[in-house]
Amino acid sequence: CAEPTPLPLAECLHPRDSSRFFNGQQPRCCAIIMAMKNNCVFCAIAEGEIPSFKVYEDDLVLAYLDINPFTKGHALVIPKAHTSGLLDTSDETLASIISRVKKVASHLKASLPCDGFNILQNNGESAGQTVMHLHFHIVPRYGKSAEISFANHKADMEELKALAARLRMP
Ligand code: 5GP
Ligand code: ZN
Repeated sequence: CAEPTPLPLAECLHPRDSSRFFNGQQPRCCAIIMAMKNNCVFCAIAEGEIPSFKVYEDDLVLAYLDINPFTKGHALVIPKAHTSGLLDTSDETLASIISRVKKVASHLKASLPCDGFNILQNNGESAGQTVMHLHFHIVPRYGKSAEISFANHKADMEELKALAARLRMP
């Protein structure tokens, strides 16, 4: 990007890549996007280049509120070092991250009038991953709030049996 300093979005005439927008909703000037480490919004947040509503931070992770919350208190826990998802992150790092997820979830549960929470972690576009930096969603749940449900598809038992046989791990 030729701009020495990022332009306000309204003044930026550079072409924009919609895949790099905030969840498709809040485009930024491309100069800011180009300045982002790894071209990654969450790296930019970890570096402090983009502001966030932080709820927890240590040497390994950062946790902050999601800008499009599914429920009140919806938070994201990310490692500060970039990996794109579960499969390219080491077991050791994952183990450490999940203990932080537990810590933050426990804090949210104690601080909000929620009854429970979901932990979600999407891998790949087809799974709904929009930011290709590993993150765990913590979604506080309040009584009967909108469903996150896997209950819609009744399986054929024979198909399920065959599939399990094919997928069984040694
Ligand atoms: P995914 O669908 O990739 O699992 O979830 C990405 C999440 O990151 C979405 O819920 C989206 O609202 C959130 N998000 C995207 N960009 C930003 C941002 O710049 N700041 C914050 N706080 N959340 C973001
Ligand atoms: Zn990143």
